[in-house]
Amino acid sequence: MRLRNNDNVLVIKGRDRGKQGRIQRVVRKDGRVLVEGVNMVKRHSKPTANVRQGGIIQKELPIQVSNVMLVCTHCNQPVRISFKVLADGTKARTCQRCEEVIE
Ligand SMILES: [Zn+2]
Repeated sequence: MRLRNNDNVLVIKGRDRGKQGRIQRVVRKDGRVLVEGVNMVKRHSKPTANVRQGGIIQKELPIQVSNVMLVCTHCNQPVRISFKVLADGTKARTCQRCEEVIE
């Protein structure tokens, strides 16, 4: 998985194409990410112990990783990611456009 929590991503496919948001959760086994404000659905729910308020609530559903691109923190563009091993042996993600390391 190339993406992590709190990454800023751009949606490139589907209903929310063009939207940007922060990753709130990575669902590794499904290859999906939950992006803030993207893929909102309405759920009709009854009050439960966890959710006191019943009725119609809006929530995000995770979307496919292939439908988003990481927005580089340096060049501020949606970019592809490559990996690089740093001098201290750790693996870092780098932007394929500006080649800066992405935190
Ligand atoms: Zn960049």
